Amino acid sequence: MPVARLRPISRHVAAVDLHGRFQVAVFLVRHRDGLIAIDAGFPGWAYAILTAAKSLPEPNRVTHLVLTHAHSDHVGGAGVLASESGAQVVCSAAERPFIEEHRSLAHAARGLVARTALTLNHWLLQSRVPPVQIDGTIGEGDRLGGLRAIELPGHTPGQIALVHEEDRVVLCADAIFNVRGHLGHDPVPGLTADVAGAEESMRRLADLGLDDVAPSHGPALIGDARDRIRGFLERRD
Ligand SMILES: [Zn+2]
Repeated sequence: MPVARLRPISRHVAAVDLHGRFQVAVFLVRHRDGLIAIDAGFPGWAYAILTAAKSLPEPNRVTHLVLTHAHSDHVGGAGVLASESGAQVVCSAAERPFIEEHRSLAHAARGLVARTALTLNHWLLQSRVPPVQIDGTIGEGDRLGGLRAIELPGHTPGQIALVHEEDRVVLCADAIFNVRGHLGHDPVPGLTADVAGAEESMRRLADLGLDDVAPSHGPALIGDARDRIRGFLERRD
Protein backbone atom coordinates (compact mmCIF):
# COMPACT_ATOMS: atom_id res chain seq x y z
CA MET A 1 0.00 0.00 0.00
CA PRO A 2 1.31 3.50 -0.73
CA VAL A 3 2.02 6.05 1.98
CA ALA A 4 -0.97 8.41 2.15
CA ARG A 5 -0.94 11.93 3.55
CA LEU A 6 -3.83 14.39 3.75
CA ARG A 7 -3.17 17.92 2.48
CA PRO A 8 -5.87 20.59 2.88
CA ILE A 9 -6.60 22.48 -0.37
CA SER A 10 -9.64 24.60 0.55
CA ARG A 11 -12.61 24.60 2.91
CA HIS A 12 -14.31 21.59 1.25
CA VAL A 13 -11.39 19.93 -0.50
CA ALA A 14 -8.48 17.81 0.78
CA ALA A 15 -5.84 16.07 -1.29
CA VAL A 16 -4.75 12.55 -0.40
CA ASP A 17 -1.12 12.45 -1.50
CA LEU A 18 -0.18 8.90 -2.37
CA HIS A 19 3.48 8.06 -2.71
CA GLY A 20 4.19 4.78 -4.42
CA ARG A 21 6.35 4.63 -7.51
CA PHE A 22 5.57 8.30 -7.94
CA GLN A 23 3.29 10.87 -6.38
CA VAL A 24 -0.40 10.99 -7.29
CA ALA A 25 -3.06 13.06 -5.54
CA VAL A 26 -6.65 11.93 -5.13
CA PHE A 27 -9.08 14.59 -3.92
CA LEU A 28 -11.82 14.21 -1.32
CA VAL A 29 -14.57 16.80 -1.57
CA ARG A 30 -16.96 17.33 1.33
CA HIS A 31 -20.66 17.71 0.55
CA ARG A 32 -23.82 17.51 2.63
CA ASP A 33 -24.05 13.70 2.69
CA GLY A 34 -20.41 12.62 2.66
CA LEU A 35 -17.42 12.77 0.35
CA ILE A 36 -16.85 12.75 -3.40
CA ALA A 37 -13.56 11.12 -4.40
CA ILE A 38 -11.87 12.53 -7.48
CA ASP A 39 -9.88 9.62 -8.99
CA ALA A 40 -8.67 6.43 -7.36
CA GLY A 41 -4.90 6.10 -7.82
CA PHE A 42 -3.00 3.04 -9.07
CA PRO A 43 -4.36 -0.51 -8.69
CA GLY A 44 -4.15 -1.50 -5.01
CA TRP A 45 -4.41 2.05 -3.70
CA ALA A 46 -8.12 2.10 -2.84
CA TYR A 47 -7.71 1.08 0.80
CA ALA A 48 -5.27 3.91 1.47
CA ILE A 49 -7.83 6.37 0.03
CA LEU A 50 -10.67 4.87 2.09
CA THR A 51 -8.55 5.01 5.26
CA ALA A 52 -7.83 8.68 4.59
CA ALA A 53 -11.57 9.31 4.05
CA LYS A 54 -12.42 7.63 7.38
CA SER A 55 -9.98 9.93 9.19
CA LEU A 56 -12.09 12.96 8.16
CA PRO A 57 -15.06 14.19 10.25
CA GLU A 58 -18.40 12.45 9.60
CA PRO A 59 -20.28 12.14 7.33
CA ASN A 60 -17.25 10.63 5.61
CA ARG A 61 -18.68 7.90 3.40
CA VAL A 62 -17.49 8.13 -0.19
CA THR A 63 -20.80 8.58 -2.02
CA HIS A 64 -19.42 9.29 -5.52
CA LEU A 65 -16.23 8.60 -7.41
CA VAL A 66 -15.48 10.91 -10.34
CA LEU A 67 -12.84 9.57 -12.72
CA THR A 68 -11.12 12.40 -14.59
CA HIS A 69 -9.46 10.22 -17.24
CA ALA A 70 -8.46 6.67 -18.14
CA HIS A 71 -4.80 6.57 -17.08
CA SER A 72 -3.96 3.76 -14.66
CA ASP A 73 -2.70 6.09 -11.91
CA HIS A 74 -6.20 7.64 -11.83
CA VAL A 75 -8.54 4.66 -12.36
CA GLY A 76 -6.50 1.72 -11.02
CA GLY A 77 -8.17 1.67 -7.59
CA ALA A 78 -11.65 2.52 -8.87
CA GLY A 79 -13.22 -0.94 -8.91
CA VAL A 80 -12.21 -1.72 -5.32
CA LEU A 81 -13.00 1.78 -4.07
CA ALA A 82 -16.51 1.57 -5.59
CA SER A 83 -17.29 -1.91 -4.28
CA GLU A 84 -15.96 -1.20 -0.76
CA SER A 85 -17.75 2.15 -0.39
CA GLY A 86 -20.82 1.70 -2.59
CA ALA A 87 -19.90 4.94 -4.39
CA GLN A 88 -21.55 5.80 -7.70
CA VAL A 89 -18.87 6.01 -10.39
CA VAL A 90 -19.03 8.69 -13.07
CA CYS A 91 -16.75 9.88 -15.89
CA SER A 92 -17.19 11.74 -19.18
CA ALA A 93 -18.96 10.03 -22.07
CA ALA A 94 -15.85 10.47 -24.24
CA GLU A 95 -13.61 8.76 -21.70
CA ARG A 96 -16.01 5.97 -20.78
CA PRO A 97 -14.90 3.34 -23.38
CA PHE A 98 -11.25 3.82 -22.39
CA ILE A 99 -12.12 3.22 -18.72
CA GLU A 100 -14.92 0.67 -18.86
CA GLU A 101 -13.90 -1.39 -21.91
CA HIS A 102 -10.13 -0.78 -21.60
CA ARG A 103 -10.08 0.57 -25.14
CA SER A 104 -6.55 1.70 -26.02
CA LEU A 105 -5.92 5.44 -25.85
CA ALA A 106 -3.60 4.97 -28.84
CA HIS A 107 -6.76 5.16 -31.00
CA ALA A 108 -7.05 8.83 -30.08
CA ALA A 109 -3.33 9.70 -30.25
CA ARG A 110 -1.95 12.34 -32.58
CA GLY A 111 1.58 11.62 -33.77
CA LEU A 112 3.81 8.58 -33.84
CA VAL A 113 5.45 9.08 -30.43
CA ALA A 114 2.11 9.24 -28.63
CA ARG A 115 0.68 6.33 -30.64
CA THR A 116 3.69 4.13 -29.84
CA ALA A 117 3.89 5.11 -26.15
CA LEU A 118 0.16 4.61 -25.62
CA THR A 119 0.14 1.26 -27.43
CA LEU A 120 2.97 0.01 -25.19
CA ASN A 121 1.31 1.46 -22.12
CA HIS A 122 -1.99 -0.24 -22.97
CA TRP A 123 -0.26 -3.57 -23.52
CA LEU A 124 1.54 -3.28 -20.17
CA LEU A 125 -1.48 -2.22 -18.17
CA GLN A 126 -4.35 -4.17 -19.69
CA SER A 127 -4.11 -7.04 -17.24
CA ARG A 128 -3.23 -4.93 -14.19
CA VAL A 129 -6.16 -2.53 -13.97
CA PRO A 130 -9.24 -4.25 -12.52
CA PRO A 131 -12.50 -3.50 -14.36
CA VAL A 132 -14.83 -0.81 -13.09
CA GLN A 133 -18.46 -0.31 -13.95
CA ILE A 134 -19.46 3.24 -14.77
CA ASP A 135 -22.84 4.24 -13.31
CA GLY A 136 -23.30 7.50 -15.18
CA THR A 137 -21.62 10.22 -17.19
CA ILE A 138 -20.78 13.81 -16.37
CA GLY A 139 -20.09 16.51 -18.96
CA GLU A 140 -19.47 20.20 -19.44
CA GLY A 141 -21.47 22.26 -16.92
CA ASP A 142 -22.91 19.31 -14.99
CA ARG A 143 -23.00 19.77 -11.22
CA LEU A 144 -22.40 17.34 -8.37
CA GLY A 145 -22.10 18.18 -4.66
CA GLY A 146 -20.73 21.72 -5.10
CA LEU A 147 -18.60 20.76 -8.11
CA ARG A 148 -19.04 21.76 -11.76
CA ALA A 149 -17.46 19.68 -14.52
CA ILE A 150 -15.43 21.24 -17.30
CA GLU A 151 -14.00 19.38 -20.26
CA LEU A 152 -10.24 19.70 -20.76
CA PRO A 153 -9.35 17.21 -23.52
CA GLY A 154 -5.90 16.68 -24.99
CA HIS A 155 -4.01 14.76 -22.32
CA THR A 156 -6.71 12.16 -23.06
CA PRO A 157 -9.75 12.59 -25.38
CA GLY A 158 -12.33 13.00 -22.61
CA GLN A 159 -10.47 14.37 -19.61
CA ILE A 160 -12.59 16.42 -17.23
CA ALA A 161 -11.68 18.80 -14.42
CA LEU A 162 -13.89 19.86 -11.52
CA VAL A 163 -14.44 23.39 -10.24
CA HIS A 164 -15.52 23.76 -6.60
CA GLU A 165 -17.78 26.75 -7.07
CA GLU A 166 -17.88 27.99 -3.46
CA ASP A 167 -14.16 27.44 -2.77
CA ARG A 168 -13.20 28.79 -6.24
CA VAL A 169 -10.61 26.07 -6.79
CA VAL A 170 -10.09 23.92 -9.90
CA LEU A 171 -9.12 20.26 -9.55
CA CYS A 172 -7.54 20.07 -12.99
CA ALA A 173 -6.39 16.40 -13.13
CA ASP A 174 -3.52 16.13 -15.64
CA ALA A 175 -4.37 19.27 -17.63
CA ILE A 176 -1.18 20.60 -16.02
CA PHE A 177 1.62 18.90 -14.12
CA ASN A 178 3.65 20.68 -11.43
CA VAL A 179 6.47 18.24 -10.76
CA ARG A 180 10.09 18.82 -9.79
CA GLY A 181 9.51 22.56 -9.78
CA HIS A 182 8.30 22.70 -13.40
CA LEU A 183 4.83 23.51 -14.67
CA GLY A 184 3.78 21.89 -17.92
CA HIS A 185 2.81 18.71 -19.76
CA ASP A 186 3.06 15.14 -18.61
CA PRO A 187 6.80 14.59 -18.11
CA VAL A 188 6.49 11.05 -19.57
CA PRO A 189 6.96 11.48 -23.36
CA GLY A 190 4.05 10.26 -25.47
CA LEU A 191 1.49 9.80 -22.70
CA THR A 192 -0.32 12.97 -23.74
CA ALA A 193 -2.49 11.88 -26.67
CA ASP A 194 -2.78 15.30 -28.33
CA VAL A 195 -0.27 17.99 -27.26
CA ALA A 196 -1.94 20.81 -29.25
CA GLY A 197 -5.31 19.91 -27.71
CA ALA A 198 -3.73 19.79 -24.25
CA GLU A 199 -2.34 23.31 -24.72
CA GLU A 200 -5.75 24.55 -25.88
CA SER A 201 -7.17 23.13 -22.63
CA MET A 202 -4.41 24.84 -20.59
CA ARG A 203 -5.45 28.12 -22.21
CA ARG A 204 -9.05 27.39 -21.26
CA LEU A 205 -7.97 26.62 -17.69
CA ALA A 206 -6.13 29.96 -17.45
CA ASP A 207 -9.18 31.76 -18.90
CA LEU A 208 -11.56 30.42 -16.24
CA GLY A 209 -10.62 33.39 -14.06
CA LEU A 210 -9.71 31.26 -11.05
CA ASP A 211 -6.30 31.56 -9.39
CA ASP A 212 -6.30 28.38 -7.31
CA VAL A 213 -5.65 25.22 -9.33
CA ALA A 214 -4.76 21.81 -7.91
CA PRO A 215 -3.22 19.30 -10.35
CA SER A 216 -3.07 15.57 -9.64
CA HIS A 217 0.73 15.59 -9.72
CA GLY A 218 2.59 18.16 -7.63
CA PRO A 219 1.73 21.10 -5.39
CA ALA A 220 -1.39 23.22 -5.92
CA LEU A 221 -1.00 26.64 -7.53
CA ILE A 222 -2.57 28.98 -5.00
CA GLY A 223 -3.23 32.62 -5.88
CA ASP A 224 -1.21 32.74 -9.12
CA ALA A 225 -2.43 29.89 -11.34
CA ARG A 226 -3.52 32.09 -14.26
CA ASP A 227 -0.19 33.89 -14.49
CA ARG A 228 1.85 30.72 -14.16
CA ILE A 229 -0.12 28.77 -16.79
CA ARG A 230 -0.04 31.73 -19.21
CA GLY A 231 3.70 32.10 -18.55
CA PHE A 232 4.25 28.45 -19.52
CA LEU A 233 2.21 28.84 -22.72
CA GLU A 234 4.04 32.03 -23.72
CA ARG A 235 7.39 30.33 -23.35
CA ARG A 236 6.10 27.60 -25.72
CA ASP A 237 5.08 30.10 -28.45
ZN1 LIG B 1 -2.90 11.17 -16.96
